[in-house]
Amino acid sequence: MSDISLTSPEIDYQKSDELMRKLIEEVGEYMTIPKEEIEKTLMETYLFAREAHHGQMRKSGDPYITHPIQAAFLLLHLKPDLTSLQSCILHDVIEDTIFEKAEIEKRFGHDVAVICEWLSKLSAIKYRGEERTVESLRKMLIAMVEDLRVIIVKLADRLHNMQTLEHHPDPKKRERIALETLNIYAPIADRLGIFRMKEMLETECFRVLHPEEFLKITHELKDLKDEQEFFINEARTIIREMIPESVPIIDISYRIKAPYSIFKKLQRKEYSYSHAWDLYDLFAIRIITDTIPRCYEVLWFLHNVFVPMPKRFKDYIALPKENGYQSL
Ligand code: MN
Repeated sequence: MSDISLTSPEIDYQKSDELMRKLIEEVGEYMTIPKEEIEKTLMETYLFAREAHHGQMRKSGDPYITHPIQAAFLLLHLKPDLTSLQSCILHDVIEDTIFEKAEIEKRFGHDVAVICEWLSKLSAIKYRGEERTVESLRKMLIAMVEDLRVIIVKLADRLHNMQTLEHHPDPKKRERIALETLNIYAPIADRLGIFRMKEMLETECFRVLHPEEFLKITHELKDLKDEQEFFINEARTIIREMIPESVPIIDISYRIKAPYSIFKKLQRKEYSYSHAWDLYDLFAIRIITDTIPRCYEVLWFLHNVFVPMPKRFKDYIALPKENGYQSL
């Protein structure tokens, strides 16, 4: 393979070049290695991937390279290392361009090449109903054992594809891809404890698979926004006042139930809920302290003021959730 040219006047890369500069800047904020090194490594990777995909377009009309870059942005909250980011930028090169593993290995080293090769193998996975899912999951598991970074990149790739699924012209295909995401990728993200990615994946699937319910629930959530903000501010103040200063409170954060979780709960026959605001756990406050005994101590202060609802209190420290999640 002769060396590729790095000038491509006929396609406008202004948008992806800008995205790349922003990515490098954000990576520089959490990595401890010198900024020049980050920039050099990521720029080299980007320019190679950009040229490799040159002439290929996404269904949205953007140059193909915007896809792996946007996927890399979706990884940033996990503070990925350079190898993960490079693998993400290059993740479709083996599958979709003339370049092979050896070329990636020569330019970017063994780890990046192995991860990219795995991503090419995994791109063959297709969801064809429940039974075949097991087979796909088995393949993923083997990849995971080899290098967990394969799966992390795969999740980001899938999330960006889901976010741009509206550009797919065939509704049957959109549905197949959404089912595959819901049954294979979201459970993996859940098992790995990457809850933010799991929620984002499920939200996109929900939008495709149940468009009417999706609109209903997202509108209801929008209407509750003011109430929500008032609630979190009040709750924060009250909790601070209730817990003595001798107990270290590392963080008091807040979450609102994700649209797909709300939908699943509304579907359950044993409750007769029909709106988001009917749910008891629509808003939740998360208090982080330093040790397990402290968790129980904080709870003791809270239960002195707020009596728990019978049968609704759960001790996930003594009985962790299936994915290993622990809390009170
Ligand atoms: Mn991709």
